[in-house]
Amino acid sequence: MKGLNLAVIGAGALGSEICRILAENAFLNVLIIDPDCLEPRNVPLSSLYGDVFSTCGAGVFAHFKAELLVDAIWKQYALAWNGIAAEIADVGLGRLAACDLIISCTDSTLARLETSIAARILGLQMLDGGVMGEGIAAGRVSWFSPAREAACYLCGISEIRRAELLSYAVSTSLGCRLVEETSNMTGTHDALRETAATMFRLIEAFSVGGRPFENSFSTRLDGSRAMEPWIHKDLKLPRSVSCPWHDVPEGEWLPLAYDRPIREALSGNDLRLQTVWPQCLEARCRLCGHRTFPKRRVALIRRKTVCTQCGAIGSCEPTKIVSSLGSGDTASDFTPRQLGLPEQHLYQFRRTFAPVNDEEGS
Ligand SMILES: [Zn+2]
Ligand SMILES: [Zn+2]
Repeated sequence: MKGLNLAVIGAGALGSEICRILAENAFLNVLIIDPDCLEPRNVPLSSLYGDVFSTCGAGVFAHFKAELLVDAIWKQYALAWNGIAAEIADVGLGRLAACDLIISCTDSTLARLETSIAARILGLQMLDGGVMGEGIAAGRVSWFSPAREAACYLCGISEIRRAELLSYAVSTSLGCRLVEETSNMTGTHDALRETAATMFRLIEAFSVGGRPFENSFSTRLDGSRAMEPWIHKDLKLPRSVSCPWHDVPEGEWLPLAYDRPIREALSGNDLRLQTVWPQCLEARCRLCGHRTFPKRRVALIRRKTVCTQCGAIGSCEPTKIVSSLGSGDTASDFTPRQLGLPEQHLYQFRRTFAPVNDEEGS
């Protein structure tokens, strides 16, 4: 059990509490993924950040949460964990493939969706936790099995919202700007502890059973320490027939040499290399027209890039996007590194003469 490979996505209040419990239980292999620096609002609900803050003072706010946690766990528990200060979609799939379980504690719907897509591609179990908003003593814990007939995270969101999120994360045609749904997880301390404890019980059940769960399910938690026990309402999650992520195209996901031109892997003319997340090769600022060649993930460019000319955030619209590469594309002369793709990423090769959609009809 202690040797289980775990990835914790999101190192806010809930993520740091899960990490604390995993460290208390001497888990050896944990990878913490979070793109952001510590903010003052993360401190009051987290005992680990509270300790870091009281030793180091306000200087900690210039540091990445993923790195602060890895450091704190090393100092307090002598466990050598790893951290990556990046969004989940900028972490190579090859790094996640080694995991037994992905634990999502993020407060962003888009990050949850990206985590869920990575889990389905890699056939990994996903545990997802959330604490309700301001002052509400409630939480939610969901388990998503990668089985084809089991619900995934995307199954539970409305079709319109799902389409909007997918167009944002994986489509090359640009939809409207995304309204980001983030709760800042200012639930109560009790709800946070109970949610984390419930998540840990599932991690234990998963590791002790030694067998993946076949079904997806969710638990809603209501209560407070004053009126224990907490009420746990269990719910089996149904698969949505309109959810597109259950028929991930067949075919292995393979690594590429990071510093060799992609063309070398395409062996002739009939293979196209498929990236999971579209990459932006060229962008233009909506406000000042400034043109850039960022070579970063499309969803990241649209949300977070700062225009180097006018200084606006999120004003850059990708104008040249690539999500698959064939030998006819000039971008195939680049290496994965030059295209800004993650290290240890995985790719799928598809034959160009057998479009995926035709397979069943013919
Ligand atoms: Zn689904
Ligand atoms: Zn601009």
